[in-house]
Order: sequence, then structure tokens, then C-alpha cells
Amino acid sequence: MWTAVVGFRTKVQQVCSHKLLQVQKGRSTLIRSPLCKSHWQNTAGSVQAAQPFNMSEMIQKVEVLDANHFVRVHWEVGGESLYPSVWLRDNCQCPNCFLQSAKARKLPLEDLDVNIGVKDVTLIGGKKVQITWPDEHTSEFEADWLNKRCFSEQARAKMQEELFLPERLYWGSDLQLPTMPFEEVLCSDESAYKWMSTLKKVGIVVLTGAATRQGELVKLGKRIGFLRLTFYGPTWQVQDKVDANNVAYTSGKLSFHTDYPVLQHPPGLQFLHCIKQTSTGGESEVVDGFHVANKLKEQNLQAFQILSSTLVDFTDIGVDFCDFSMQCKQRILDIGQVIRINYNNATRDTVFDIPVEKVQPFYASLKNFVYLLNSPEHTFTYKMKPGDIVTFDNWRLLHGRQSYQSGREISRHLEGAYADWDVGMSRLRILKNTVLNEK
Ligand SMILES: [Zn+2]
Repeated sequence: MWTAVVGFRTKVQQVCSHKLLQVQKGRSTLIRSPLCKSHWQNTAGSVQAAQPFNMSEMIQKVEVLDANHFVRVHWEVGGESLYPSVWLRDNCQCPNCFLQSAKARKLPLEDLDVNIGVKDVTLIGGKKVQITWPDEHTSEFEADWLNKRCFSEQARAKMQEELFLPERLYWGSDLQLPTMPFEEVLCSDESAYKWMSTLKKVGIVVLTGAATRQGELVKLGKRIGFLRLTFYGPTWQVQDKVDANNVAYTSGKLSFHTDYPVLQHPPGLQFLHCIKQTSTGGESEVVDGFHVANKLKEQNLQAFQILSSTLVDFTDIGVDFCDFSMQCKQRILDIGQVIRINYNNATRDTVFDIPVEKVQPFYASLKNFVYLLNSPEHTFTYKMKPGDIVTFDNWRLLHGRQSYQSGREISRHLEGAYADWDVGMSRLRILKNTVLNEK
């Protein structure tokens, strides 16, 4: 049955219409498809702005295909979409099958017939598809809901883009460091949206004008939701400490690294608030790890492959928020659903669980990557001022600092905190909806 479907599915993907229509409080903007021009002009003003991409679709015709295993929807504006019957049954929106208050499925998979076909399909007023199933259960699907979930390659790509905002801007020493007032980010949704979306796209944003005392990062954590607690506490103080339990708590140079690869799920976001800055040294350095990983792939494919396949042991043992004895295995270049750089030379373990003949080639590959990280065209150096908070993507950027002179008094003090990208992305999606609907 599935092979028979492939032929016309491809055709449907080509003709399925998808518009980038954005309706905001009755005002429509951002149109890319000439197909939908008359359509949006007709509906503008009558559409509620519940969603930023609320497309008011009309259905011309609906039919069943392939022994009732597929439903085909023909759109008024042209184009068609194809939905498998099993998917429609699985996603029935009735109160027996779906809990609206939680926006979650109630229907257990145990009760789903994976070979189900529709018994009957009816179009109601061009806006709703009603399906009767063989056991007389009925499901209703709104045209807009169906339209957003069209299985065409184009429609799926657009939906994924809306959900994950994958656009990235790679940079080197030419980085124009994005800067915004801290207070604005706390008070204005539009500024917070700009902050988070830039953080996602560029990987770094400096917030300026925070008070020069501890506690500002807790406010920033509340702005997105909450901070991530680790063994170094809810927030942590970066300063020269006697018997430091972390290399960051000295006045020495810190080579490029990502924080906390010793955690199974390293924190995606890092915030560093400058409370006191030394006059001699202590400059911050950042590098776009994704950009450099791409360069490594171009210049030394073998090294890239070794770093993206070898599991490296990391360790961290000590006492801070509580006592800890951490071990973890990470690929330096973690290429999967997301790319994540896991590299911290300080916590890379002396234990190395790979065959002996692979050790030297690993070092050679890592050396090549670190050489590229440090090459002047890739690095960006800046010096934090008291009141600055640098926020950055700890899965993407590697950061470091230049050494500074330590004395009897504390000459440099940063407060740091982590947050998860899950929390950041959740806030970003909510802010995006709020801000786009307000316009
Ligand atoms: Zn149902």
C-alpha cells in the first residue's frame, strides 16, 4: 500500500500551496506567495489574532483515496494536501480523544488501529472536515488546523522553522557584538524577544547597565522562567580564590572552552555579570564554535570525523553547593539533532576510554581544532565593564579570558549562572507570539 502512494504524494508536495501569511490584529503583513494576495485582502480585518501565523483557509473539496487510507483536501486558493487516515484518527480532537485543557492526546496507542480507513468524509461550510470512522466515532478538523499540518516538504519545513527558529549567523573576528540595555529586556516584551532571538541567531548578546551587585542574574532567570542549578550553586562567583575548586576561580588565562561538558546535558545558556573589573588584563574572548567546526570539516575531514565520533571522558570532583564526583562521556563535536561543542581541557579526564592506537590521532585532531579556534580571524576579544552581563550560547560558543594580576584584594568579580535552552526557547516562542500579535 505504501509504495502505491509514493507516486502521487510527490505530485501533491509540488502543488500544495503554502503561504506566509501573518495576520496581526486584523492587519496582514509578510506575503511571499502571489497566490494568496487576493485571499488575504479578503480576510484581513476579520481574523482573530490568536496565533501569529493564523491562516484563514477555505476548503473547496475533500475526498478519500487509496482504499480510504488517505484523505485529500483541495484548497480554495489552489493546491491540495494529503493526510493519512491513521494520522487523522490518532489526532482526533474530540474530548474523548484529546484533552483540550492540556493540549494533549488521551487516545492510547493501544487503541489505535494502524490500518484504519475512513468510513465517510463530509465538508462542512468549507471550513471543517468531518470524518466518520468504521466504529461510528466522528472527528472534526478545522481547515486552518489541517493546513498548518500539511505533509508537503515545504509546509513541514515552514512549521519546523516557526517552532525552532534555526537561522544562524556565523561570525569571526568581524563580530558586531549585539548590545542592549538590561532594564529594557526586563521591562519590555519586544526587547526581551529581540534579546532571545538574537541570542539564538548570533549566539551572544551583551546586556548593559545592570547594577554592580550580586542578584541581577536571578532577575534575568525569572525573565525567561528559571535558572539551572548545578553543583556550583544557583549562581556562582568568578573570582580569584584560595584553593580554587575550578580553574575559572584563579587569575590565570582560560583557554577556549565550553562550560560543563561533564554534565550529560550541559547548560545551553550562560550569563556572566561583571560586578568588578580589573584594570590589568582580564579581557574576555569568544569564538563561534559552529563556524570553526565547519572550517575544520572543510580543511581536515579526518580530524572532524574523529572529533565527532570519539567519546571523550570528562571529570569534575570537589565540593561547592554540595560535594560532587562527576563523570561523563562526550563527543567534542556533537553532531546530532543539534550541534553542540563539548570541550573543556581542564575537566577532560586523564582516564581515556579508547583503543591505544586511536589516542595520538585524537590529539592531532583536537590540536587542529584548537588551532582553528585560536586563529585571529575567528576570535573576538572584548573587555567587560562593571554592569555588563554577557549572555551566550554555551552549546555553540567557546569562551576564554586573558590572565590578570591578582593582589591581596579581589580586583575582578563576575557572577555567573546557567539556564537551559529548553527554557530559553520556550520563552522565545511565547514572546514571539505576544510581540507579533501586539503589532
Ligand atoms: Zn475522538
